[in-house]
Amino acid sequence: MRGRFAPSPSGDLHLGGARTALVAWLQVRAAGGAFVLRVEDLDQPRTVPGAEARILEDLRWLGLDWDDGPYRQSERMARYDDAIARLLSAGQAFECFCSRAEVQRASRAPHGPADDGPRYPGTCRDLDRAQADERRRTRSPSVRLRVEPGVRVWTDGVHGERSDDVAAAVGDFVLRRADGIPAYQLAVVVDDAAMHISDVVRGDDLLSSTARQLLLYDALGLAAPRFAHVPLVLGPDGARLSKRHGDIGVRVLRDRGTSAGHALSRLATTLGLCTPDERPTARELIARFSLGALPKRSTTLHVL
Ligand code: GLU
Repeated sequence: MRGRFAPSPSGDLHLGGARTALVAWLQVRAAGGAFVLRVEDLDQPRTVPGAEARILEDLRWLGLDWDDGPYRQSERMARYDDAIARLLSAGQAFECFCSRAEVQRASRAPHGPADDGPRYPGTCRDLDRAQADERRRTRSPSVRLRVEPGVRVWTDGVHGERSDDVAAAVGDFVLRRADGIPAYQLAVVVDDAAMHISDVVRGDDLLSSTARQLLLYDALGLAAPRFAHVPLVLGPDGARLSKRHGDIGVRVLRDRGTSAGHALSRLATTLGLCTPDERPTARELIARFSLGALPKRSTTLHVL
């Protein structure tokens, strides 16, 4: 059993991220498995200098340790390029010369999952070699996975059975952007497979990504892990806890003098693992943890 936490160093660890890390860590420790840390720093313009070191330190402060890593995606480019080359040569992926604005204009379908914009209408799917060579003269292509019609059924460890129609909601999705940066969907699958991750635990903002990732596991001939998506934490304003709620970052609490025991207690309370007056350590929570008993709805976290 191997699990992981895969933060993006686009800012400090906020309480939602810390809570997800705690769940992933508890699941691994309860099963006697190995915990992998992977820094998802492919989006260089969004990477904040020093954020990685602060995230690792904040995890340690909470009592969460890891057995393998930290790996950095920016140092693993060759693996992503290799997977994309394999998919291209097998005809499972294709080059696309459309800009985002062109996809937007050409798409008549309602918006798919927000992260991927409108559904791709298949514009470059069937270009022949001569047409592609012609377009390559003026534009660098992105690469997209060829998605066949059909519903993908899968089971989530928290949310139960899900069915997603990737072709209808998203269409052929991007594996590598035109600027050469591998897409999150591709990098996460290549890495989870290479790191032998058996159980992915992450925030349920990524629930709609999972079917795309399952299609990629299939296309690459890789075995997929089990998935469990932890319900989101909402800020006091009712919006998803995010970097906007800057004052509920782990770092801010530390600087304010909040103890690790207090912060951990608040996180564990929202997970139904302790009462607000208890101060268990992360290790003491291991025996109390069960994935099946996690709350299935989002919880609101008020300022500590
Ligand atoms: N790096 C992603 C994030 O911070 C998480 C990716 C994942 O867990 O699959 O949102």
